[in-house]
Amino acid sequence: MSTPVDALVAELDGVIESAIANAPRSLQTRIGPSEMGIPCDLRLGYKLLGHPETNAARSVAWKPFVGTAVHDSLKLVFSFANYALPTWAEDGIPRYHVEEKVVVGQVNGDDIDGSCDMYVDGTVVDWKIVGGPSLRKYKAEGPGDQYRKQAHLYGWGWAQRGFPVENVAVYFLPRDQEWRQRYFWSEPFDEALALETVSKVDGIAKLVGALGVRALPLLRTAPAWCRSCPWLAPGSTDLARGCPGHPDATAPDSSLTSLIA
Ligand code: SF4
Repeated sequence: MSTPVDALVAELDGVIESAIANAPRSLQTRIGPSEMGIPCDLRLGYKLLGHPETNAARSVAWKPFVGTAVHDSLKLVFSFANYALPTWAEDGIPRYHVEEKVVVGQVNGDDIDGSCDMYVDGTVVDWKIVGGPSLRKYKAEGPGDQYRKQAHLYGWGWAQRGFPVENVAVYFLPRDQEWRQRYFWSEPFDEALALETVSKVDGIAKLVGALGVRALPLLRTAPAWCRSCPWLAPGSTDLARGCPGHPDATAPDSSLTSLIA
């Protein structure tokens, strides 16, 4: 007799949810380039401390999982596209450098590296797979500090590898709309912005390294998608037990807050 439907659904859900919970980026404890531009210093402090997460309301990270799947597909698409180009046939040099690791700076003396979605002909490109409301917001207001800084950090990393970097870009791709809704944002590479971003994170790392949880009240807060912040603890009066959130926090697009590099 085959497995009853209820049991089968539970089995399938279990496999999927376990895969999401155990995805490499879900388990990553070290800070990465995608987080270094987070505007809330307190959230950075929690991350750098390795503080236990307190936000029990966070649900299965399905949207980030979808985003990761699109990233994986685009990696394949552009890897194959390289083979069709004369440069590949002539000297094996790819036009599209996909998912290559770059070091974006040092925090507490340790290299911080990450996989950059793409470098192509002087431009660093980061994919973001977003829902409709977020897409409209990015079209109207630009990528925001976090994604902008992430793009420049990768730009710095490629420059350190000896590649010319002229522009950085974020390609916003619709998660639940038509292809024509996509939005490509770019601006000239700004080395100073990358260095300033690393320097700020390094300063917070040194502070929390010296003071531990006693550093938390010293750190500025900002409304950095509080609802999906791992350290949100509504009503908390003790930062060691979690953050009550920022009064100006808005609802997040949860696809953009945890899994996507
Ligand atoms: S809940 Fe909001 S204010 Fe608090 S640490 Fe997280 S992002 Fe910052």
